[in-house]
Amino acid sequence: MSDIDVSAEAVVPEKPPVSNVTFADIGVMSQLCTACDKLGFKTPTEIQRESIPWALQGRDIIGLAQTGSGKTAAFALPILQELWNKPSALFACVMAPTRELAYQIAETFEALGSGIGAKCAVVVGGMDLISQQIALSKKPHIVVCTPGRLQDHLENTKGFSLRTLKYLVMDEADRLLDMDFGPKIDQILKVIPRERNTFLFSATMTTKVAKLQRASLSNPVKIEVSTKYSTVDKLLQYYMFFPFKRKDCYLVWLLNEMAGQSAIVFARTCNEVLRIGLLLRNLGIEAIPLHGQLAMDKRLGALNKFKSGARNVLVATDVASRGLDIPAVDLVVNFDIPSFSKDYIHRVGRTARAGRSGRAISFVTQYDVELLQRIEQVIGKKLDEFPGEKDAILLLQERVNEAQRMATLELKEIQASTRKGKKRGREDGDKQISLSEAKRLSKGGDDGRKRKSAKKEGHRRK
Ligand code: AMP
Repeated sequence: MSDIDVSAEAVVPEKPPVSNVTFADIGVMSQLCTACDKLGFKTPTEIQRESIPWALQGRDIIGLAQTGSGKTAAFALPILQELWNKPSALFACVMAPTRELAYQIAETFEALGSGIGAKCAVVVGGMDLISQQIALSKKPHIVVCTPGRLQDHLENTKGFSLRTLKYLVMDEADRLLDMDFGPKIDQILKVIPRERNTFLFSATMTTKVAKLQRASLSNPVKIEVSTKYSTVDKLLQYYMFFPFKRKDCYLVWLLNEMAGQSAIVFARTCNEVLRIGLLLRNLGIEAIPLHGQLAMDKRLGALNKFKSGARNVLVATDVASRGLDIPAVDLVVNFDIPSFSKDYIHRVGRTARAGRSGRAISFVTQYDVELLQRIEQVIGKKLDEFPGEKDAILLLQERVNEAQRMATLELKEIQASTRKGKKRGREDGDKQISLSEAKRLSKGGDDGRKRKSAKKEGHRRK
């Protein structure tokens, strides 16, 4: 983290020896220790050990930790403890870049805070505004949100303000502080008290000092429990190299080889996710799609089916790559290798969590060699080639071609009916969504960033 020029102290608070440290040892009060115990958190994880004592001393925190390291509890526990000491409504606001992550954070707050009566509201796009307004009117202690919808409520929900806020948390802060959300965050920062604590947590951190200043931290403690851009040791990382036109065939072969294991297949665009989902289903592989253009209930439904094990292949855009705690993923497939190396770290962070081992396999075609090299440079290691028998793989091509044809037809039908539905929605004067929500959707939601590459991809396919 030498490239961040902030006056953060890279020092470690005094703490008991690591081996037998308990939550009580690092200052967590007994009610919350009990809650941790109930969740099976026997001892604090490294990020929790390092950051909680500072947070309890009232310091601002920049926490850098790998996905799956327990960073949610690292910020939730000190906030809940302070809430217990000085209870007040609208005490903390936690911002996250995706809706699913917001729900997941709220679940942690609820699980840890139920014993002390902490109330939590989730305010994210794609869900009904009115019921969120009702939830906010009940003065929750903690609001977990995506920035756009929070801004909507700040502007349009009578009586709602963040004037009493004591804690602001930005999870996946590097994403929140970048171009997509930056202007919204600026607006939000203007209307919350300067006298507050701010925690930035992320697996990766941007180098731009300006972005950190925007988050207006005061004398933060920087805590880093992993090297920048590291991937865990138990993660086996491979690539498979073949011509672009064979991608589907290799995917089908790989998923057949790994049958019974849980896998996330990452693709670049929403359409591609849909197409792959249909293709796999046509070949008898029960895959479930997850992308930013799905309605929120469908996104949560997809995630739950996958989490519960009802389906063991999830095909997703990067909406699923960050912060989501999906247990027991054995395999991550980068069907489309990510254009940003940081996205690679987040994607492969979906496997090999909590001490388990896992595999990540990236598809590399003639167009992707440079991207692979960039990733290897960033993670500081060379990926091994995943062994596959070319002849056996190509034997599948005919069946895959047929499934591709069917998937393309089905995709066209879905797109046509979506267009019709949208038109009908407009004719009915659909007032359910807010102005900024409509703007967001028209940009392609959480996946808007990927739109340009989607276009390019389309051209290349043709
Ligand atoms: P997070 O990095 O917050 O997404 O957490 C990753 C996973 O670790 C979640 O399933 C948490 O429930 C779990 N977890 C968090 N803290 C602990 C702990 N101290 N001991 C065991 N598991 C934990």
